[in-house]
Amino acid sequence: MLLLLGCSARKRHDTQPLPAILRYDGPLYQDLRAFLRRRGWPPALRIGTFSAEYGLIGALAPIPDYERRLDSERAAQLRSTVLATLARWRDLADRTVLVAGSLYVSSLLPALQAAGYSSVTVVPGAIGEKRAHLGRALQALPSVLQTRHDPVDMGRRTVFFPDWEDFLDPDFDFLTEHFSGPPGARRRVHAATALGEPISDGILVSLAQRLTHKGLLKQLDRSDPRSTAPQQLRQYYQLPDDAILFGDCGAFSYVEEEEPPITVSEAAFLYHIYGFDLGASVDHIPAPYLPLPERQRRLQLTLANAAAFLAEARHYGSFHPVGVVHGLDAADYARSTALLIEMGYRHLGIGGLVFRSDREIAEIVRAVAAVRASMRRRIWIHLFGIFRPKLQHLFEESRVDSFDTASYYRKAWLRSDQNYLGVDGRWYSAIRVPVSSDPRNRRKLLQRGIRPEDAVELEQQALRALVAYAAGEQDVESTLDAVLAYDSLIDRDDLARRDLRSLYRRTLLARPWEQCPCVVCRSLGIHVVIFRGGERNRRRGIHNTRLLYRQVRNGDQCFPADHE
Ligand SMILES: [Zn+2]
Repeated sequence: MLLLLGCSARKRHDTQPLPAILRYDGPLYQDLRAFLRRRGWPPALRIGTFSAEYGLIGALAPIPDYERRLDSERAAQLRSTVLATLARWRDLADRTVLVAGSLYVSSLLPALQAAGYSSVTVVPGAIGEKRAHLGRALQALPSVLQTRHDPVDMGRRTVFFPDWEDFLDPDFDFLTEHFSGPPGARRRVHAATALGEPISDGILVSLAQRLTHKGLLKQLDRSDPRSTAPQQLRQYYQLPDDAILFGDCGAFSYVEEEEPPITVSEAAFLYHIYGFDLGASVDHIPAPYLPLPERQRRLQLTLANAAAFLAEARHYGSFHPVGVVHGLDAADYARSTALLIEMGYRHLGIGGLVFRSDREIAEIVRAVAAVRASMRRRIWIHLFGIFRPKLQHLFEESRVDSFDTASYYRKAWLRSDQNYLGVDGRWYSAIRVPVSSDPRNRRKLLQRGIRPEDAVELEQQALRALVAYAAGEQDVESTLDAVLAYDSLIDRDDLARRDLRSLYRRTLLARPWEQCPCVVCRSLGIHVVIFRGGERNRRRGIHNTRLLYRQVRNGDQCFPADHE
């Protein structure tokens, strides 16, 4: 069902942009939100709003506060864009229900007919009758609201994989380097589920994706069909039922702004309709480099938001609220922890740690753990954005329950000598064979007077040599010659290349890909240690993350140090 509503004069006046369905606050919108709160977002429901300011937009499209009423002149101005939007939305639903005032109806109805909508119901009558009709139409939709996982009950340490749109083509051919289709039409599988065995207990998704152009929650144009309904995250990531969806606000992305761009009620609403299991309160990081009064203001704001957020979360009852703890020092963190537990939080997430040294983190975690130990209830503690191999012993001792980290994943393609974690616990350097057709590499080649076509032959020789080495058909030194002959065309000086030779030799001689039983290593062979393109590099990251996950699950405290 495509539900079309008119905008309402009554609005919330939050300064941050709000989804249209939260911005408008007339009786129909209040009814709609009350329904969504009780029943979740029915999979068959799409909602559009005819805004006097923005034309026909999806109900989830964020809009700033404004003041404008629809009159016949404005309706005439908007006619062509409304028609274009309806053309984009035609296949969203098999029927359309129009619940709006007469001016909206007289604009939308001819446009719906012109755009070829066949089953359109115009709800007649005064506002009371419209509300009753809307209520009946919504009640008739099947809903799928589920109770959410509580990791507290799992009683073991959890690891979350932070998502930034990490998808792979499961049918990528590593020999021909062909994808399963052109961009946009490829098969895709999320990094967290690609392996067929878990590499984390769930995914951490940041609401701050709404400020970016990446991820499921990314910014869309206001009339994009996807802004008419939330896509269920579990489905989007193809996650198994027992995987946990954890949402946070991504406070690092707005640390430079005066106020969080996400309001408390918006965060709670989004956690609810997207089907999160856990949702973090709206925090504002009191970063150490800010002036003291500003840091204190942010601390107070974070606590006030946490109180308001807990009330909102209880209102929805569908996800478990996580109170985000900040502090200027360890004693402050302890105070905030006590306050949040007193408010009623059972799940806490310690934020702002990325800025801190291992020593500071150790102090903070000890202080928070001491407060937690004094409580009668079991309190779940998550550390946001850090893993810190050297502190694992302390984290285990302090009974830290949960982490999110992409560090082992991203190491796969960082410019360092630690790209592939062996099952022997040692890091290995991946072997770079850059893609010569990549625009940046083409530019480098041209700058050095080398025709990209000439580089292709050396590139292919390097790849062939590596595959032959893996098969036992070529010796290590001639393989290194081939790899470095191509490498020298791209960007390295001779000194760096001497280092590379010994790093690469170490990787090749150890043959770590032969010792790992994971699906990536079994199916890619030596390609898993070739540093080349997202398909190989992300799979290497998945392999690394699997090892990290297994170590955490086994309660292993001996994590490979960053430098051997
Ligand atoms: Zn592996």
